[in-house]
Amino acid sequence: MEKQLFDVAIIGGGPAGLNAALVLGRARKHIAVIDEGRPRNAVTREAHGFLTRDGIRPGEFRRIAKEEISAYPSVRFVAETAVSIAGTDGRFQIETEQGQTIASKKILFAVGMKDRPLGIPGLAEVYGKSAFVCPYCDGWELRDQPLVIIVKGAGLMHFAPLISGWTNRFTVCTNGPDELTDTQREELQRHQVPLYDSPIRSIDSNEGIVQQVVLEDGTTVPCRGIFFQPELVTGSDLPRAIGCQMTEAGAVVVDEFGKTNVPGVYSAGDAASRMYQAIAAASMGAIVAAAMNNELNMEAWNRNG
Ligand SMILES: Cc1cc2nc3c(=O)[nH]c(=O)nc-3n(C[C@H](O)[C@H](O)[C@H](O)COP(=O)(O)OP(=O)(O)OC[C@H]3O[C@@H](n4cnc5c(N)ncnc54)[C@H](O)[C@@H]3O)c2cc1C
Repeated sequence: MEKQLFDVAIIGGGPAGLNAALVLGRARKHIAVIDEGRPRNAVTREAHGFLTRDGIRPGEFRRIAKEEISAYPSVRFVAETAVSIAGTDGRFQIETEQGQTIASKKILFAVGMKDRPLGIPGLAEVYGKSAFVCPYCDGWELRDQPLVIIVKGAGLMHFAPLISGWTNRFTVCTNGPDELTDTQREELQRHQVPLYDSPIRSIDSNEGIVQQVVLEDGTTVPCRGIFFQPELVTGSDLPRAIGCQMTEAGAVVVDEFGKTNVPGVYSAGDAASRMYQAIAAASMGAIVAAAMNNELNMEAWNRNG
């Protein structure tokens, strides 16, 4: 492994990294997909909204993807954690936690995002089973159900109208000061949305299905589902460590082809966008792969001509 210089090391084997590997494998590039296998959606049983795969188990999605990519022999899978990167465009060296050194001309960060600790007692038990983060992913399954949404401030004024497309039976728990203006509070009242700002004491559930949200002031809000907005961080510190510019929200700053400010380094998927959906990540993986392939081909063309 140490002696081979891969064209691209893809760090992260979720939908973004795997689709990039498929495109680059078909383009006859030598690819190492380094993936430790800890995707953000590991908590969920079904992934929705991916045409031809609606409702698939996330693990099954990856299995099928790897099987398809295995048809292209220049793609190698490395089930390890990348812990450091040195070098520059044309020759990067990646060290893995397990002690391997992988050399590549270019890097693609497809490292996804990670949730910060959830912080509300009982939330971990229901996360991915009846508490979700994205109504496009899981709103259909909770349509017309009584829901609690745990959001505050400006985000709430986006989330409340959004969730009303799936159910009008929802209560807002801001888990502390609501951070709303009087006008925003009046808007919620006009739409008859109950609003509680008492901190959440706990979430009661039965086999992963939420039963009620219990507030510090003693209020209980019965419900069958929750949507909340966790705080996110980039799936790996490596993009920042190698000098990639990051947004305040922790995403890698890229151009429309996934190029970062560091020559030879690209990023795709959740790590480099705000549309946290598998098909969007896969699509970005494909676009970025084509851009990287183009750069590699042009470099070879110019070297040889
Ligand atoms: C609860 C939940 C439910 C969801 N449901 C849906 C749904 O129904 N439909 C939908 O479209 N989307 C859903 N999503 C969003 C979807 O999971 C993401 O948009 C998608 O997985 C992003 O793909 P990605 O390839 O960018 O990152 P990920 O799928 O997160 O993959 C990143 C990979 O990189 C690996 N990695 C990170 N750092 C390193 C490193 N240093 N070395 C090696 N490997 C590394 C991680 O372990 C992981 O395997 C859901 C998300 C959550 C949290």
